[in-house]
Amino acid sequence: MDDATRRWLELQRDLGGDEVILDSAVSRRRPPEPESVNEPAWRRGAPPIPGPGLSVGTETSGLLDPVPAWGSLDEIAAIVRECRKCQLCESRTHAVPGEGNPRARLMLIGEGPGESEDQSGRPFVGRAGELLDRILASVDMPRGDTFIANVVKCRPPRNRVPLPEERDACLPYLRRQIELIRPAVLLALGGTAAEALLGVKRPLAELRLKVHRWNGIPLLVTYHPAALLRNPNWKRPAWDDIRIARQLVDSGT
Ligand code: URA
Ligand code: SF4
Repeated sequence: MDDATRRWLELQRDLGGDEVILDSAVSRRRPPEPESVNEPAWRRGAPPIPGPGLSVGTETSGLLDPVPAWGSLDEIAAIVRECRKCQLCESRTHAVPGEGNPRARLMLIGEGPGESEDQSGRPFVGRAGELLDRILASVDMPRGDTFIANVVKCRPPRNRVPLPEERDACLPYLRRQIELIRPAVLLALGGTAAEALLGVKRPLAELRLKVHRWNGIPLLVTYHPAALLRNPNWKRPAWDDIRIARQLVDSGT
């Protein structure tokens, strides 16, 4: 069995087993076909790239004020580690600026650090992070090829949703990170990230399956990995979302 097929099978298990992923009893009995030269395993049955959604940014709506022109991701990380712009600094162990490939084509945006992240100073290293790693691997996209950041860089107490004033205090860091990386695709993980970037509060089901634009950069919305751990029914749609994101990354080359 080749690597891609093995990862594809592993992800099917993670994402709820064959009764969720495979459509028919016939395909359930049939092992996946080997990866062909021009079609990787994740591509089989992937939904097409969807149509346009919302558009947000200085170029389109003038919605975004300029942010400080910090010169590098390292500079932002250093400032974030010392930041005291909101009350979340009081309870943090470590700020979590985000990390990854500065030239990432895919940038993932979560909500805020959880306990493991607060302890380590690194994004998505707990259980949700493990699932995220497998989701990325399933579309042949190792975490190291991406950049992973959060809306707020310090852990909200008891993992509550960040307050609007905390989000707004922290957002300039994320916005400058996106500007510096200028990824081909942004993937908002969950409602907090979607709301922070798109400036609207809508049910996730309405925001998925559209190619939004953030300052011209294609932006997709999917479920937060922690939500997938709680609600297995969302794993199948999340698998569609990451395959759409992967196709969008490829289509920009
Ligand atoms: N959840 C998030 O939103 N971000 C992390 O970094 C970890 C868990
Ligand atoms: Fe600063 Fe953001 Fe941490 Fe608040 S959450 S203290 S704004 S880095």
